[in-house]
Amino acid sequence: MNNGEISDYFSALSKLMDLQGEDSFKAKTYSIAAYNIDQLGTELSTMDDATMAATKGIGASTARKVREILDTGKLSQLEELMERTPAGVLEIMKIKGLGPKKVRTIWKEMGIESVGELEYACNENRLASFKGFGQKTQEAVLQSIAFIRNSAGFQLWAAVEPIAESWIARLKQGFPNYQFVLTGAFYRQLETIAEIEIVSDMPADTLPKLWANAPGITMTQNEEGLLLQMPDNIPIRFYFVKKEAVASSQFRKACSAAFLAAFEKEYKITEGARTEEEIFANNELQYVPAAMRETASILAKAKAKTIAKAIEVSDIKGIIHSHSKWSDGQETLETMVKHAIGKGLEYLVISDHSQAAFYASGLTAERVAAQQIEIDGLNAKYAPFKIFKSIESDILNDGSLDYEPQVLATFDLVIASVHSNLKMSQEKAMQRLLTAIQNPYTTILGHPTGRLLLSREGYPLDHKMIIDACAEYDVVIEINAHPRRLDLDWRWVSYAMEKGVLLSINPDAHSLAGFDDIYYGCKIAQKAGLTADKNLSSFSLAAMEAFIEKKKSR
Ligand SMILES: [Zn+2]
Ligand SMILES: [Zn+2]
Repeated sequence: MNNGEISDYFSALSKLMDLQGEDSFKAKTYSIAAYNIDQLGTELSTMDDATMAATKGIGASTARKVREILDTGKLSQLEELMERTPAGVLEIMKIKGLGPKKVRTIWKEMGIESVGELEYACNENRLASFKGFGQKTQEAVLQSIAFIRNSAGFQLWAAVEPIAESWIARLKQGFPNYQFVLTGAFYRQLETIAEIEIVSDMPADTLPKLWANAPGITMTQNEEGLLLQMPDNIPIRFYFVKKEAVASSQFRKACSAAFLAAFEKEYKITEGARTEEEIFANNELQYVPAAMRETASILAKAKAKTIAKAIEVSDIKGIIHSHSKWSDGQETLETMVKHAIGKGLEYLVISDHSQAAFYASGLTAERVAAQQIEIDGLNAKYAPFKIFKSIESDILNDGSLDYEPQVLATFDLVIASVHSNLKMSQEKAMQRLLTAIQNPYTTILGHPTGRLLLSREGYPLDHKMIIDACAEYDVVIEINAHPRRLDLDWRWVSYAMEKGVLLSINPDAHSLAGFDDIYYGCKIAQKAGLTADKNLSSFSLAAMEAFIEKKKSR
C-alpha cells in the first residue's frame, strides 16, 4: 500500500469524526496527518515502527494506526465510525461543497439520509432556507448531484485501455480460431468509458458455458449480446455474430448515433465486408477512423476525400508544459533534459508554477532568475537540445498574470492557467480568462476549463468567445494531455482550427513518466482531426524558435 492510499484512511477518519460530532481537535490532527503522509518522500510501508514514529509529521499514535492499516488493510476506528453512519449519508459526503459539518446538519437536523432525499429537498428549496446554507449552496449541491449521476459507472479511457487490450489478447490466445475486435465508445477514443465492447464470431454460448460457475461473474444475455460483470471491474459487452458480419457489426457499434444515421441515409453498409475500410471503399468514401465517427459533417469530407491525416505521437517534437523539482515536479531539470533527449525530442519547455501557487512551491522572481541561470548552463551543455524558459503563471483573481512585466519578459513563453478560486460564475470566469488572453505576455492558455474528468466539472465558459479572443490576440490553446484533464475539450478543437488558432498537446508532466501522457493528448485530438501543423508541440526546434521570435516582436 502506498502513502497516498494510507493518507486516504486518515482523511476519511477525520471527516467521519467531524460528521459524527466527535472531538474536533483530534479530527483536525488526523487531517494534518493525512496531508503529511501524502507529502512524505519515503513510502511508509518500507519503514520500521521506530523510524515511522520518529518521522516528522507522523508521531507515535499515528504510526500505530499506520501499522494497523499496513498489517490488516483496515483501520478499526474508521470501520466503527462507518458502521454508525447510514450508507446514504456516506454518499452525501461525496457531494462537492459540503463539508462534514454541513452534512451533519443535513443528516441530524434535517433528517436527510440519502442523496435522493437531499435532491428532493433542494428542489423544494428547503436547503436554501435552512440556516447556514443559502441559495448558492443549494444550486451547487444540485449541480454536484447531477455530475455524480452522470459520472457513475464511467472510467477514464486511459484506465480502460490496458484492460481492453489484455482482454483481446487473452481471448485471441484462448480461442485462436475466432476473431475478437473492439468497438463502441472505447474504440471511438472517448475520454470516459462505461463498458468495453467486443465483437466476435465465436458461438454465443461458449463463454456463458465456460464461466457458468465462475465465482463473482454475473452474465446477462439478451438478443444483442452478453454483458459480463465482475466486482470492481468495468463491464464487458460481447456481440456474437456470424463470421461474415464481424466488420459490419464492428462498424455499426463503433459509430455515434448521429454518424450512423447520416451514413445509412446515403450509403450502404456492406454485409460481408472483411474490414471496416472495405465498407468505406465500397461507398467510394475516404476511410473515416472510428475516433472521428462522431458527427454527420465528417461524411462530406470523406466524400470529397479531404480528411487530413490526424496527429500521432511520432509527430510530437518537444515537451511543452512540464514541472521540475523547482516547483512541484519530481525530477531535476537535468534529469528531465536527458529523458527528453533519450526520447528523441528536440526541446523542453519548462514551466514550473508561479509564486501565487505557494502550495506547489511556486517560483518567486528571485527563484525564476536562479532557474534561468541553471537553464543557460544546461543549454550550453546539451546543445542542440534546447530548454525554453517558461512559467505556468497563475491567472490571478482579476485576470492578471503572476509577475511584474520585467519578470514576464524574461520567459520565452508563458502558459497562463487558473488554479485558484475555481468556483466562479461564467461571467467571472470569462472576465479572468479574457483578461489573461489579452495580456501580451500570454503565449498559451493552459487547461482552459480546469475540469478533472469524473471528479470536477470545469468552471463555465463561453468557449466560442474564448477561442475568438485567442484568435484575435494570437494565443495558443492547450490540449492538456493528462488523461484526467484532456482540456480543451476535443469538441471545440475543430472550431479553434477553423479560426486559425494553434493548439498544443501538452503533457503537464510532473514526472518522467508524465511525458508519455502526450499519447492520450494525441488520442483525444485525433477525434477532432487535429493535424500536426496546427499543433505547437509538433513544431521542430527551428519552427518553435521562429514562433517565439514572432510572438515576442508583437
Ligand atoms: Zn496547471
Ligand atoms: Zn502544470
